[in-house]
Order: sequence, then structure tokens, then C-alpha cells
Amino acid sequence: MATTDTRIHQNLIAGERSDAASGDTFESSSPADGELIGVYPRSGAEDVDRAVAAATEAFEEWRLVPAPKRGELLFRFAQLLVEHKAELTDLMTHEMGKVKAEAGGDVQEAIDMSYYMGGEGRRLIGQTTPSELQNKFQMSVRMPIGVIGVITPWNFPIAIPSWKIAPALVAGNTVVFKPATDTPALGQRFVELLVEAGVPDGVVNIVHGGGGVVGQRLVEHPDVPVISLTGSRETGVAVLHAGAERLKHVHLELGGKNAIIVMDDADLDLALDGILWSAFGTSGQRCTATSRVIVHEQVHDELVSSLVDRAEALRLGPGWEDDTDVGPVINGAALEKIHSYTQIGIDEGARLLTGGGIATEGDLGKGFFYRPTIFAGVQPDMRIAQEEIFGPTLSIIRVASEDEAVRVSNGIRYGLSSSIFTQDVNRAFRAMRDLQAGITYINAGTIGAEVHLPFGGVKETGNGHREAGQAALDVFTEWKSVYVDYSGTLQRAQIDNQ
Ligand code: NAD
Repeated sequence: MATTDTRIHQNLIAGERSDAASGDTFESSSPADGELIGVYPRSGAEDVDRAVAAATEAFEEWRLVPAPKRGELLFRFAQLLVEHKAELTDLMTHEMGKVKAEAGGDVQEAIDMSYYMGGEGRRLIGQTTPSELQNKFQMSVRMPIGVIGVITPWNFPIAIPSWKIAPALVAGNTVVFKPATDTPALGQRFVELLVEAGVPDGVVNIVHGGGGVVGQRLVEHPDVPVISLTGSRETGVAVLHAGAERLKHVHLELGGKNAIIVMDDADLDLALDGILWSAFGTSGQRCTATSRVIVHEQVHDELVSSLVDRAEALRLGPGWEDDTDVGPVINGAALEKIHSYTQIGIDEGARLLTGGGIATEGDLGKGFFYRPTIFAGVQPDMRIAQEEIFGPTLSIIRVASEDEAVRVSNGIRYGLSSSIFTQDVNRAFRAMRDLQAGITYINAGTIGAEVHLPFGGVKETGNGHREAGQAALDVFTEWKSVYVDYSGTLQRAQIDNQ
């Protein structure tokens, strides 16, 4: 395909740009107004195979580059992200739809992660332990694994690739990256900046296309030992099944149904700020978004009436406009799914207090906008309180005690983020202990993770791994234990020291 149109893009494999072998393409367009963002290859298994071959070959050299040098590449990449932050932020408001401040935060997270993981180049710390035998030395070292298949969602289109690709690279692995089909332009810019930072040919390859084809082939490919996927629970289960055939390391970061608990002693103004930010930020499309508020009966009515007033004051609009509070949702299918849950909530007997409709007035009709929606009278076992809606829909559940609040918060299949607003330090510590989640916030909403602590969830939010912090390195390295015997004799462990 001719590439004189700057909106037409190609895969990057072995440092070279190429169309899909089939020549097929797909379009990325803005969820706010339908504007065409770009045209990308709709790749197939053949394209994935070429990318994996390139990454396999590149691994042999990249794994031998000293880790501090690999880290320096990430420092250069972080600097380029800083220089391009405004451009990427603007592109994100158009392609993904989040508002400017949040889009800037998404890019900043990648900057922070790249600097943090760049520093790992001079750490990648292992252990030395004393031997039980004389004249013997032993240590454990982190080893790169090989080609990492990176499969990402659309909701953090710059941050999430950085959570995976930065630690993968500093540890000495190579990457085949498949971004979500809703945000290919941001995935492409991410890789172009890595190339500008000096990543050698074949070390990072991008293959655009659908999950069922490109993603599936990556998961099944015999030369891809690790899959790192962020996405929905259903996709995670499918990928885990497919990866099991080859005993792959499958790293899953999946959904959530996160709750904020508001106790009777809470600072209610603070709790309101936390709820609005966590429930309606990114139009509720964060894995850590608050979709349930569990509120003590003594403060229930006061909290709910202020919450409704403040939700109704939020302005819907395109993310690039300064006064927009809530942007669009990602696509038509998401809009329909979110709207279907409003009917489900009504049918289940919950009380719709505000929202519950698709916004179509004026230019909003060009995009996928959903009104911030609040249900009260929600029972913990209702579908709207159990299932991930992934939109601006909030369920309010009334409780009579701290014990009940914690029980309701825990009564879901997921376990990503959790929060409690209370001024009682004993309550706060009990919540830190008892909330079943990978993340607990005290007197803050369910959002606000930083790159240097582990990120991930318990129960069906994942399969026991973490991204970010030092914990991320466990996904992208294998431990090797090394024993050096300098005694000049055969020394038998567990026998000759008795
Ligand atoms: P999704 O599961 O539809 O897609 C995620 C990625 O997987 C996409 O790139 C998609 O193309 C690919 N994919 C789909 N089917 C596949 C298959 N069979 N084999 C291989 N790859 C496949 O999710 P989404 O709609 O893009 O993102 C929203 C979901 O992601 C939500 O459930 C959200 O909670 C979750 N999420 C989790 C985290 C976290 O860190 N826990 C962070 C962000 C989003």
C-alpha cells in the first residue's frame, strides 16, 4: 500500500515497516466525534510469525548488552516521552477519549515507569547466601527469558505498554507488541519513540490486528515463552487455556469491581471528591474505577444527595476541550453494553437516581457519550453490583456496620482496588488487613497507583503476578542459582557437611 498519506501506518518488524501480508487494514477513529485517526494493518498469523522470528534473532544479542546500557536506552526513551508529552496527550484525547489531565497522567506514568525501570539496569538485584560447605560460593541471578508477547487494552494506551515493555527490555528480553485495535496510533507512537531512543532492530516489534488472530497466534506461538496480557477476565481465561498447551508463563491483569467504603465517621466532602474522581474519571473505564459505594446508613442520605448533585454538574464533551469533565466511552459496543446494564439495574429493582441514558444533544451525538449514572438501593448480589460494566455507572449499597461493609466489599469475584474513608485509625488498619484486594487506599478513592509499588489484584483479577515495582521483574526474568566450588575436591551438599 502506498504510504504517502500520513494517516496510513504499517507494522514494524525487524526494524522495517510492512503492511499485513494479506494487505488488509482497519481504521482507528475518535470515540468523541468519529474523526479518522489512522489506518493500520489488519495482520494475520504470518505477520506474527515474522515478528517472532525477528525478536528471537534479536534476543541473542540484546540479552548480552550490559543491563546498565539497556537501562540507558529507557532513560532516553523517558526523555523522549517528556519531549512528546503534549503531542501524545492530545492524540490520546482524540483516539482514546480521556480528558486532557488524565491523558497527561497516562503519559506521565510511562515516563515514570521508564525512568524507574531504567534504574533497574544498575540493580536487577539477586541474592548471595553463604554455602554450607567450605570454599564454595553461591548466588541467584535474574536471567532474561526470550520473546515476550505483549497484549494491551485501550484504556491506558501509553501507560500499560510501558508497564510491560520497560521491564521486559531492561531484563534483556525482546518484544512483540500487539496494541488494542481501538488505540493503534498510540501504540505506534510508543514504538516509534523507542526506535528513536535507539532500540536495535528486532528488539521491539509491533504487529497490529485483532485479538482473536494476532493475539491468539502470539499466545500459541512456540517461540514466545511469556505472554503479558492486560484485558478482561474472559480474554484472560482464553489466553491462559491457550498458553497451557505449551506451559507458557502467562501474566494476567484483568478486571475489577472496586468499592469505596464510607463509614459514619468519614470526612464526607473528602469522600465525595474521591468517589467522583474514581467513578467518573476516564468515564469509569479504569480497571481500578469505583463502581460500588458501600456507605454506612447514618451518612447514606447526606452522601447520596450531594453525590447526585455533583454528578449532574459534570460536563460531558470531547477530551481535548478544557472544560470537559467526562469524555466519551471507547466505542459503540461499549456504549450499548453500559446502557444495557442500566436496564438490568432497573429490572433488578435498584433505584436510578440520575443518568441512565446515552447523551446525544448537539455534538455529543457524533460520539459515544453516556451520562454519569447512579443507582441507589442496590443489593450486593445484584448483577450491577457484581459484574464489570466498565463505564460511568455507580451502585450505592447501604450497610449498618463496618463488618458488613467489609463483607460486601469482598463479596465479588475480583480483587483489584479497595478503599475506606474513616477517621478511626483502628478501622483503617482493620480494613488494610481484611479487604481482599491487591491495593487498599485509606481516605482516597480507588485510583492513584504509583509505578514503584506492585500493581495487580487477588482472586479473579489475575493469576498471582504483579506489574510495576520490583515485583514486575518476576514476570520478565527467570531465577538462576549458581554454585561455584573452589575447593578443588568433590564436595557433596547435604552429605559432606554432616
Ligand atoms: P479485552 O480483553 O477485550 O482486550 C485486551 C487485549 O486482548 C486486546 O489487545 C485484545 O485485542 C486482546 N485479545 C482479545 N482476545 C484475545 C485472545 N483470544 N487472545 C489473545 N489476545 C486477545 O479488554 P479491553 O476491552 O481492551 O480492556 C478492558 C478490560 O481490561 C477491562 O476488563 C479492564 O478491567 C481490564 N484492565 C485491567 C487492568 C489491570 O491492570 N488489572 C488495567 C486496565 C484494564
